[in-house]
Amino acid sequence: MEYAKNKDTGEIISAVNDMTAQIDKKINEAKNIIFSKNFDKLGERCPECGAGILRIVNRRSDGHPFLGCSNYKQGCKYSLNIG
Ligand SMILES: [Zn+2]
Repeated sequence: MEYAKNKDTGEIISAVNDMTAQIDKKINEAKNIIFSKNFDKLGERCPECGAGILRIVNRRSDGHPFLGCSNYKQGCKYSLNIG
């Protein structure tokens, strides 16, 4: 069996570093959510429509998470910032 050449090893290491950086970013995002305001409302019934449950949604425009109603597709626009 032939060992990977140095170049390949370098590429693997940089790929792993990229993944690690992305994981770190996700962990930091999760920490920000946990310690942010309104997070304790996660899973509560929506106060606006009374039917949906509040859940984390990633805003499409900038990827920032907020609490949104699970009834969104049925027309409920309720949302809370958790930033
Ligand atoms: Zn709702």
